[in-house]
Amino acid sequence: MSETPRVAIVTGAARGIGAATARRLAAEGHSVAVIDLKQEDAQHTAEEITAAGGTAIALGADVSDADQVTATVNQVAERLGAPAILVNNAGVIRDNLLFKMSEEDWDAVMGVHLRGSFLMSRAVQSHMTSEGWGRIVNLSSASAQGNRGQANYSAAKAGLQGFTKTLAIELGKFGVTANAVAPGFIATDMTKATAARVGMEFEDFKNAAAESIPVRRAGTPEDVAATIAFLTSEEAGFVSGQVIYIAGGPLD
Ligand code: NAP
Repeated sequence: MSETPRVAIVTGAARGIGAATARRLAAEGHSVAVIDLKQEDAQHTAEEITAAGGTAIALGADVSDADQVTATVNQVAERLGAPAILVNNAGVIRDNLLFKMSEEDWDAVMGVHLRGSFLMSRAVQSHMTSEGWGRIVNLSSASAQGNRGQANYSAAKAGLQGFTKTLAIELGKFGVTANAVAPGFIATDMTKATAARVGMEFEDFKNAAAESIPVRRAGTPEDVAATIAFLTSEEAGFVSGQVIYIAGGPLD
């Protein structure tokens, strides 16, 4: 792929899928704004990118806070230029069975995944539509199809699929595409936390997951980053409103 260099924003990019995506988009030639809750956490990914010869800045922001989102997107536009690629990756889990799930845990998950993706997309769309080019990718999940202990998370991830399709419909005429990727089991700190919650060693948890995955392995952050690299590329301009499962087997 030979890409026109653009300005990309990746949220929750201090680690896991977000960090791999930030590194991959930088390797495609884009300048990357690495956003995470704490600037010092985001700094690590930005330094990896610059050490590899890329361009990156690190910014601290809570994507569920409208004022912080506005200020952050303004800073990106001032320091790197108008954002043309947005990856809404920031995420949290607050798993519990419905009868034990608190309102705080419901609201926290909705706040980061749904409200965060809404606020970030609303803030960047004016840059994208005025340039006549944009790519938005939202992180959904295989859990959108339902997962025990994740009423909040599965509802948010299913909601993101509807959000994505609506962005595709509204923004298409301005040259902006919107797609969702829906990973299955990816080895990151998030799945490590799930293993700890169910009292399993991470290696055992990963191996058990792999047994039920057709390609017989857990996914990696780089598997997801590669799909996002395609969806944010020049040549993906006719792919919009799609949900792509990255799960080592069929899901729909
Ligand atoms: P991760 O390792 O937990 O990383 C998520 C990052 O998001 C963390 O650095 C976290 O910061 C940051 N974050 C949390 N709340 C934020 C907020 N309000 N504002 C800004 N940043 C925030 O997760 P991951 O496994 O890479 O997952 C990335 C995305 O993929 C998430 O949307 C997740 O739901 C989705 N996904 C993951 C899997 C999987 O198997 N791993 C599967 C399907 C979908 P802190 O560390 O400071 O909290």
